[in-house]
Amino acid sequence: MELLDEARKLTIYTAYNTNVDAIVYLNSELIQKLIDEMGAEAVRRRMEEYPRQIEEPLDFVARLVHALKTGKPMAVPLVNEELHSWFDSHFTYDVERMGGQAGIIANLLANLDFRKVLVYTPHLAKKQAQMFVKRPNLFYPVVEDGYLTLKHPHEAYRENDPIKVNRIFEFRAGTKFKLGSESIEVPFSGRFIVSARFESIRIYTKEKLKKFLPVIGETSDGAILSGYQGIKLRYSDGKDANYYLRGAKEDIMLLKRRKNLKVHLEFASIQSRELRKKVIYNLFPLVDSVGMDESEIAHVLNALGYSKLSDRIFTYNRIEDTVLGGKILIDEMNLEVLQIHTIYYIMYITHADNPLSEEELTQSLELATTLAAARASLGEITSPEDVKVGMKVPYNERGEYVKLRFEEAKRKLRTKEYKVVIIPTRLVKNPVSTVGLGDTISAGAFTSYLALLKKKKAL
Ligand code: AMP
Repeated sequence: MELLDEARKLTIYTAYNTNVDAIVYLNSELIQKLIDEMGAEAVRRRMEEYPRQIEEPLDFVARLVHALKTGKPMAVPLVNEELHSWFDSHFTYDVERMGGQAGIIANLLANLDFRKVLVYTPHLAKKQAQMFVKRPNLFYPVVEDGYLTLKHPHEAYRENDPIKVNRIFEFRAGTKFKLGSESIEVPFSGRFIVSARFESIRIYTKEKLKKFLPVIGETSDGAILSGYQGIKLRYSDGKDANYYLRGAKEDIMLLKRRKNLKVHLEFASIQSRELRKKVIYNLFPLVDSVGMDESEIAHVLNALGYSKLSDRIFTYNRIEDTVLGGKILIDEMNLEVLQIHTIYYIMYITHADNPLSEEELTQSLELATTLAAARASLGEITSPEDVKVGMKVPYNERGEYVKLRFEEAKRKLRTKEYKVVIIPTRLVKNPVSTVGLGDTISAGAFTSYLALLKKKKAL
């Protein structure tokens, strides 16, 4: 693919979040056992309460069953460290691998043979470092004797760093189980993430490295930043979300100090409305590009005060509402480009003066969905050749309907001041894994967007 070859010439910086994903493949028996252990009635009651975090096993089972019933991928924070032993006694982990957006994106771009991939994560324990692929184009910035040096993550780990393990429960469409007298069939394949939220894991750039961010920014073609969902509102040492968000703002400005480095923020679900709002208001105005999925745009709109529109997106998933929400977001935050991915389509919204044409924007999305389809088919992308697998995956059967509804939406809404493009996704029927597909879409979309800008001498 020609556009991928252009994108591969780029140098990309990515930070902050990495973790180890411990994966469990769920089946009917396993789910049934969990429900029986807790009692169907108790699970049902707790599902109605919809716990925002996991403090006890019943919270976990209730949110899991909710995710299974809707087939929607979800992530819920685990705040009670004592539950580790409960999880470990109930599950054996089938696979351990790289998790966290920055880690997933770094491995992906390194495997795709990008010119240079710089990945920064404030905590790099040995086990975490080993989750990085062994590629000569992958680097971790280290400051030694006051100088910046680039080392492969395998050579850069620190013995005593903390490590974050997320448990990922993969589920398949068609899995059947019973919640009391109710029979449930999982409508879509997906995953339920229990993400560890502990005091020791922070999202920041170490002081020593901060002063080199302008050089890193100058020598990169783009930055992909993510992991802000891992910030806690308060820490026991007195630091809070404001402290870490001030640091995050500083990092973006330092990266942009010597040139107008394009920065993409990959937004992930944030359960706390207060933190969600802070991330949006502090960081969106500083970045050029934002990527998110459909439920996240609904959450973001809710935090910005558009609760009716947000509810509509949650309930009906209508394209015209997503387009409207996207327009509001790029206007209020003055973004250069917003990318929204959903199960059936991916969308870009920009202002009308964006240097890329709608055709070019479409090409960028095509690459994004092709990469995701390749990853869904193979489990991981290990070389640029793998993208061919994605090209063989057909567009989903709702594709034509999606296009039709989009044309309708375009006629209804005033879209003259914007460029809005949409493509149906290439959807793999039985994905090997669904972890990291959204990150793959966003990394593919943003890097190819940069490559197209560069071709136009607009970068
Ligand atoms: P996220 O919710 O951010 O993890 O993003 C998941 C995205 O991955 C969806 O919006 C789809 O566009 C894409 N996706 C999900 N399942 C599949 C699949 N089976 N094959 C290809 N792409 C998929």
